[in-house]
Amino acid sequence: MSHSVSYPEVQLYIDGKWRGGSEHGGAPASQPVINPATEEAIGTVAHASRADLDAALAAAEKGFATWRHTPPHERYKIMRKAAEILRERHEAISTLMTLEQGKPLPEARMETLASADIIDWFAEEGRRQYGRLIPARAAGVQQMVHREPVGVVAAFTPWNFPINQAVRKVSAALAAGCAVILKGPEETPASCAELVRAYADAGVPAGVVNLVFGVPAEISQYLIPHPVVKKISFTGSTVVGKQLAALAGAHMKRVTMELGGHAPAVVFEDADVEVAIKLLSGAKFRNAGQVCVSPTRFLVHEDLYSRFVDGFTEAVKGVKVGNGLEDGVRMGPLANPRRVEAMEALTADALAKGATLHTGGARIGNKGYFFEPTVLTGLAADARILNEEPFGPIVPIQSFTSTEAVIAEANRLPYGLAAYAYTTSSARADEFARRVESGMISINHHGLALPEVPFGGIKDSGYGSEGGTEAMEAYVNTKFVTQLGV
Ligand code: NAD
Repeated sequence: MSHSVSYPEVQLYIDGKWRGGSEHGGAPASQPVINPATEEAIGTVAHASRADLDAALAAAEKGFATWRHTPPHERYKIMRKAAEILRERHEAISTLMTLEQGKPLPEARMETLASADIIDWFAEEGRRQYGRLIPARAAGVQQMVHREPVGVVAAFTPWNFPINQAVRKVSAALAAGCAVILKGPEETPASCAELVRAYADAGVPAGVVNLVFGVPAEISQYLIPHPVVKKISFTGSTVVGKQLAALAGAHMKRVTMELGGHAPAVVFEDADVEVAIKLLSGAKFRNAGQVCVSPTRFLVHEDLYSRFVDGFTEAVKGVKVGNGLEDGVRMGPLANPRRVEAMEALTADALAKGATLHTGGARIGNKGYFFEPTVLTGLAADARILNEEPFGPIVPIQSFTSTEAVIAEANRLPYGLAAYAYTTSSARADEFARRVESGMISINHHGLALPEVPFGGIKDSGYGSEGGTEAMEAYVNTKFVTQLGV
């Protein structure tokens, strides 16, 4: 597939039909989609009106009535077919993703193919939603635990991984027998729509998966309290997550929240410093740092500190930044101008408070949302970069002297999503894993986010899991039945 894939006018998918938004006050609404590498408008995405949301709700209610009774083996076959379709189409879909989101094409391919694996895994898991029998105290009594799908799910997914953030929610929901209204990312809609198309073309019945776009706050305010919706799943910032969780709580709706993080990456004095530099510089600039589990607070033991800073800075200078469609580009533009502004503000704040800039620190050129991979040291404790999720290619490096101090620093922030450590001591690795407050811990490598392992945070990073067997829990109700035979 060439890079000349043409970017579509992205539509809504409601009740088994692709369509534009219906009229809002006289004209169907839409918004342009911008290529972040060129700032050119490459397409549009339709906005759902209130009438479209009502249509999606009615379709999902009807879809759920069918899908919940579709035998799990049948659901499995359809889901496996969707995964195959995604693989067959992955080259074109990945190109759309790079055009709309900016990430280098190899990363877009990896995301698309990994998403097919996620569908496969949840398809299998859907066949294993076993209930159980509990031995009764009295003769003739049968005590049973059933697992039933929760119902219609409203899922809200962001722009950083346009397919991957959606596929986890939609696949777990479908595997459990739920129907979904997916509110996809308006800034990166086409690849997300291709995921929904793969499901539709694989034979998911009309109404079971619906896709809408629009003004996020208007859609969430309408869908979350709506009586048809029984479960909310959101991925995005902690600020928005708290608002949506509060709204869901007011209506007693079940919620999964996958929110921000500020992952400590600790290099202990016994670590192999070259390995740490290689793996951390690889992980940090993936998706230009716009990753909720990105390593973001680098904490290096003072014995290795200057070697690490020098080696890491050299590695960073070798990161080729450019249009993600070009060969050899390691880091694309940021996904939107808000991120560039955020990087400029975080850097300016750190420098104003006395930080040292080792490389980067500025926007690249005046077209496209490019920002230099940036390394800062000598940071004041109140530098914003040490306290707010950067969601971009800035690396603050600090030194530490004791394990006690570094664990306290790792746990200092309200976030608790991912944490990384490099050490050759298994005792230290165990201690880090036990004492660091985080939903996910990865030691001596970056091994998070596979379909079969739990994925989720604690503290302000949210709750619930989007991977592993735990992910299915979010989409099932437990029903206890006790029956005395008569
Ligand atoms: P934002 O907080 O405005 O939006 C984040 C996401 O939430 C977007 O997808 C947006 O469409 C959605 N959203 C916003 N308000 C909403 C509402 N009222 N109802 C439903 N959805 C809503 O910020 P942004 O500029 O798009 O992203 C910046 C911040 O968001 C980052 O700093 C990062 O913390 C967070 N973020 C996290 C993830 C993640 O993977 N956890 C992904 C994207 C963004």
